[in-house]
Amino acid sequence: MPALEEVREDVWALAQPMPGGHLAYSFSYLLRRDDGGVHVIDPGWDSAANWERLLSALTTLTPGRAGADAVTGIIGTHLHPDHVGLAAHLRAASGAPLALHGVERRVLERHSTRLLDLDEALARLEAWGVPEGRRRELVGFVDRSPEHLALSVDQDLVDGELLDLPGFRVEVMATPGHTAGHICLRDDERGLLYTGDHVLPTVFAGLGLGGPTASNPLADYIVSVARLEPYGSYEALPGHEHRFRGLAERARTCLDHHLVRTREVAAILEGTTPGSGGPSIWEIASRLTWTARWNGLAGLHLLSALRQTEMHVDFVTAGLPLDGTLPTA
Ligand SMILES: [Zn+2]
Repeated sequence: MPALEEVREDVWALAQPMPGGHLAYSFSYLLRRDDGGVHVIDPGWDSAANWERLLSALTTLTPGRAGADAVTGIIGTHLHPDHVGLAAHLRAASGAPLALHGVERRVLERHSTRLLDLDEALARLEAWGVPEGRRRELVGFVDRSPEHLALSVDQDLVDGELLDLPGFRVEVMATPGHTAGHICLRDDERGLLYTGDHVLPTVFAGLGLGGPTASNPLADYIVSVARLEPYGSYEALPGHEHRFRGLAERARTCLDHHLVRTREVAAILEGTTPGSGGPSIWEIASRLTWTARWNGLAGLHLLSALRQTEMHVDFVTAGLPLDGTLPTA
């Protein structure tokens, strides 16, 4: 686990461990304002150990102030529990407001208020061609966030907004794709870009992993990747792994990774008519290359694979450009 690190004057990176999966930790970034208050970007996974880690980091940054009292704001790059799981605890202990993009707030509210419609969820799986014997295993994930997060969001962030952060000039950039309300944060004075799960240095984060969206997450991602291009010289502070340079190239590599699968789907769909006896989402997914291998996918991971497949199928059937050029409206 990396030690607490001051990456620039008044900016610290704190690694917060998370359970399971192939990522050992997420990064929480602590920004110390010129009045001594601390804004926390992505406090991390909710656990007693991570709470103690955060308090200990705060004591290092603001000696003389008692733990969470120093916190003046909490910002989430997106709604996933490895980023904002600890936000409820931090908000309650500090009284600091929690800010997320409005799209994320609405998805969280829907998840906490809407009950699962079992018939509707089963019908969706049937339409995807999921064999009857596998539907029960997936049904609980169809319309739910993977972890039930009960979060009260105090502020909606919008694209282009400057954070109220004395001593800093940090601008919100809407970067939908990984989730529909994902944001990056840009500090022009320090040459830093907080990328959340939009762009990671070696891992490829999935797309469309928030709530249901009206637009295609891959089409959104193409636009979001292009938005980083002018800031290619900035240092990226990602949500996982390690900080890195070469942001514009890495963003393009991430996009290309997804487009390879889109072209795989396009090849399978060639000469078939969608919806009329053509291959189902299940059949198409079973013919694609998956890191965990198709036969090894189960539960949430299998549902996520099917959702990604549907996204690629929709992208291809909408006639969007397979070379990743910007989709025309
Ligand atoms: Zn995420």
